[in-house]
Amino acid sequence: MTTVAIVGCGVIGAAIAYELSRIPHVEVMVLDPQPPAQASTGAALGVLMGIISQKTKGNAWNLRQTSLQRYETLIPELEAITGEAIPFNRQGILKLVFEPEEQATWAALAEVRRAQGFSLQIWDADQVKQHAPHLDTGAIAFAVYSPQDRQVNPTALTHALIRAAQQNGATFHIGMAAEQIISLSQPPSPLQHCHQLKTTSGLLAVDWVVVAAGLGTTPLLASLHPSPTLSVRPVLGQAVRVQCAEPLGLPNFQPAFTGNDIHIVPLPPAEQGYEYWVGATVEFPDEAGAVAASPTQLQTVLEGAIALCPALKRAAIVEQWSGLRPRPYNRPAPVIEPLTGYDNVFLATGHYRNGILLAPATALRVKQMLLTKLGNSEDL
Ligand SMILES: Cc1cc2nc3c(=O)[nH]c(=O)nc-3n(C[C@H](O)[C@H](O)[C@H](O)COP(=O)(O)OP(=O)(O)OC[C@H]3O[C@@H](n4cnc5c(N)ncnc54)[C@H](O)[C@@H]3O)c2cc1C
Repeated sequence: MTTVAIVGCGVIGAAIAYELSRIPHVEVMVLDPQPPAQASTGAALGVLMGIISQKTKGNAWNLRQTSLQRYETLIPELEAITGEAIPFNRQGILKLVFEPEEQATWAALAEVRRAQGFSLQIWDADQVKQHAPHLDTGAIAFAVYSPQDRQVNPTALTHALIRAAQQNGATFHIGMAAEQIISLSQPPSPLQHCHQLKTTSGLLAVDWVVVAAGLGTTPLLASLHPSPTLSVRPVLGQAVRVQCAEPLGLPNFQPAFTGNDIHIVPLPPAEQGYEYWVGATVEFPDEAGAVAASPTQLQTVLEGAIALCPALKRAAIVEQWSGLRPRPYNRPAPVIEPLTGYDNVFLATGHYRNGILLAPATALRVKQMLLTKLGNSEDL
């Protein structure tokens, strides 16, 4: 048996726990001081902008493509294991675009996606009116419809990943925080080896550590000597849940709608009416690192949503929240790599605005890094 401790139980830690729990002879332990899916994951809208993103090659696209493919198998797999449905919208994403000069860029992207085996459709205003009569097409230049993109409920997904990992023997230590990575040098190797985690409940013996702590990454790594340069900083997002008496648009065509970086996300029909998530703001911290939810910024998003979809004016706001996205400072998101200077610590953090999208690919990448270190054998 080899023991892997995963620090953090947001969507990233839970996805890694599930993938690693499927490897024979790997014992998975996850620790988090708070209940699962409470931090950034609990605030997210779950829009999976893969095919409709502008990324077409390299790591950024590979992660997206891997996640999109894995989601198609992962959701039914988790539903079969747990016996519970995960809200997963398979109707795609419809994006409104307001600048006519962007048409050539989107047409080129549609061509690239066709060659990659995906569909991306450019719609004119009449096509939008036909499929989504609730949207205000007065100011739009065109729209992009991506039928193979998805939206998932991040909290339901995280809980399903945890239950499925538990069925494979993974254990979850909720209420326990990692305080320090304790390591030894092993000459002649220049690398440190972590053999214990100091936790709020005592010392934990480990063979491998995966840091999936989001904004908790920087404080945890600060205890190391020398301390790594990675800094994960908060970017605040606010969103709301609204209730409408009627569905927005055609009841049988309810994709996630987006425009001007504002999402309108249909939720499964509820007894009380038709519900949507609307968001999110993107609020950066000040120089001291502090960020507080700005009512003005939320108001701007809500007004922007009403401009996209005027019927939202009659909707009632029934819930409002904010969350902090973990963004790596001065480097691209996310960070999925071995911790420099260590032979058995991996980082899976800093997913910023796309952690729900990239969780399945992150988990597969961590699994691959671990198996490579273990000699590439699944039969350990
Ligand atoms: C308003 C909003 C909307 C968003 N919408 C989308 C979207 O539509 N699509 C999308 O893909 N992404 C979206 N995101 C981004 C997404 O939420 C994040 O990228 C993702 O949740 C990051 O997951 P995580 O598990 O790394 O971090 P988190 O969910 O923040 O989890 C980190 C966990 O680590 C734990 N932890 C920290 N320190 C320690 C420690 N020392 N020991 C043990 N545990 C520790 C924390 O308690 C926490 O539970 C959105 C975010 C926000 C705020």
